[in-house]
Amino acid sequence: QAVFQSDIGALLEQVGTGKESLSFMKRRIRRLAAQWVSAARRLDEKLRNRWRDKKKILVHIGFLTEESGDVFSPKVLKGGPLGEMVQWADIVTALHVLGHNVKISVSLKELHGFLGVPPGRGSCPLTGALPFDLIYTDYHGLQQMKQHMGLSLRKHKCHIRVIDTFGTEPAYNHEEYATLHGYRTNWGYWNLHGQQYMTMFPHTPDNSFMGFVAEELNETERLYIQRNKVNNMAVVYGKDASMWKVSKDKEKFLAVLNRYMEIHGTVYYETQRPPEVPAFVKNHGLLPQQELQQLLRKAKVFIGFGFPYEGPAPLEAIANGCIFLQPKFKPARSSLNNEFFRGKPTSRKVSSQHPYAEQYIGKPHVITIDFNNSAEFDAAIHDIMKINVEPFLPYEYTCEGMLERLHAYIQNQDFCSPEVPFPPVNSSEALLERFFIREPNSRILSWASSIISFPSWPPLTALRLLTSLQGQSCVEACQSKGLTCEPAFYRFINIKEAFKALGFQCEVVESEMNHLFPAFSTEHGECSLQVDPLLFSCAGSSAKHQRLCPCRDHRDGQVALCKECL
Ligand code: UDP
Repeated sequence: QAVFQSDIGALLEQVGTGKESLSFMKRRIRRLAAQWVSAARRLDEKLRNRWRDKKKILVHIGFLTEESGDVFSPKVLKGGPLGEMVQWADIVTALHVLGHNVKISVSLKELHGFLGVPPGRGSCPLTGALPFDLIYTDYHGLQQMKQHMGLSLRKHKCHIRVIDTFGTEPAYNHEEYATLHGYRTNWGYWNLHGQQYMTMFPHTPDNSFMGFVAEELNETERLYIQRNKVNNMAVVYGKDASMWKVSKDKEKFLAVLNRYMEIHGTVYYETQRPPEVPAFVKNHGLLPQQELQQLLRKAKVFIGFGFPYEGPAPLEAIANGCIFLQPKFKPARSSLNNEFFRGKPTSRKVSSQHPYAEQYIGKPHVITIDFNNSAEFDAAIHDIMKINVEPFLPYEYTCEGMLERLHAYIQNQDFCSPEVPFPPVNSSEALLERFFIREPNSRILSWASSIISFPSWPPLTALRLLTSLQGQSCVEACQSKGLTCEPAFYRFINIKEAFKALGFQCEVVESEMNHLFPAFSTEHGECSLQVDPLLFSCAGSSAKHQRLCPCRDHRDGQVALCKECL
């Protein structure tokens, strides 16, 4: 039985020393400790002593190992990326606070020690059982485990979770399919279950949403913020001078902005060299996280100039009562047309600097506009100065939200047990009845309830079956109905009865390996089923197909979990 833990002393010891990245993580863990502990208390009450298995968990942070080159640690104090460290600090804290037995490794030596693999060169199969129930790692760590565990990794891989900021789509993850159909990248092709990849934002329902947390405010702090907002103060997003490399365009925006506002920045610079930002910018240099929060509490607007993509800072700004003003990308950026995303195992289209802020938060907290249109830019600044906005933090980015989500994954996601075969569905009416909510009919209802009680997480009661339009993905089809695509449900709708239930007349029924299937081809009246469960994918669309989409509801502010998922 796992018991919530309020003392973080043991965790801090585990994190270790000797690297700037680890010190950054420790400072963050200490700073947010009280917030985590009170969130744990609330979740504990909510779960009302429900049994929670205590798991043995290894966290192997591959990108921080010397063996992977560790390019991040030396840049922690020099404007390098911090988002990953923010997320790992929050992951280990959440696991610890949930009461699991957590071991942390940031070197191959530690990894070997924890796994009981003798050190040395070459691969060495792990002979006995895996000494952990779960392993959280990243792509670097996965590669290291493959090198050092060899084939035994395959046996244990259902226990692995890969922290993967931007996400991995099934077409890229499936080695054979990726190779045959041009989805091969440096990262994908691990043949994991799509939901074993865990992302920074809930942008790809094919993966699990891990997330991180932002600071929460108490009433006093809220009042203080409201009283002390400086109406004409802007903070520019970007701690590295390269993000500011003042192109003519950016200079123009900054000059426009400067007509109305005092502009602040947190760009790292060397003491001997002046900061590479225009003279009218008040640059504070890279700030400790806590001081950045203070700056955001005063500022009215936080402005992104297009980079970095999908980082934590905009959420922190919005949580501290700033309006986030950001550029819309037209056309949307993706691995197909953008250098930064090239080679990443996803075709996801990034519609703005921070699509989560744009789509999940939106106005008045987030304003997404075309920066090339100077009239629009000007108007946005005017609007911002006129309105008052309250601090806002989506529940899924609070400590309680993250604990709730991680708790649900740990206790319910299971990629190791063989799947119980789904009982054959021989009546499309039964599907209709249950998944579309039609007129009740007792014969069908009793049949349908036998399907609905089938063991599944999320529970089958949450399933809502839809068809996409031609050219639409299941991500979009579900979203258009206020629902979320749930890949775990594909296996229940990958049956010919589902086509009939949806009103499709199948001229032919075929089965194939294709990440768009199950789908209906309008041209040929063909109903195509999926042969390989690893290719069930919410992402992906084709102008020739209407896809079958398993959607589900979600909890308010917690898109990763269905209403009955807890
Ligand atoms: N940050 C900081 N000091 C600064 C600017 C940013 O500590 O002067 C922190 C910020 O609080 C955030 C983290 O850096 O949690 C990562 O921010 P960003 O959104 O820039 O993402 P990154 O590109 O670093 O992953």
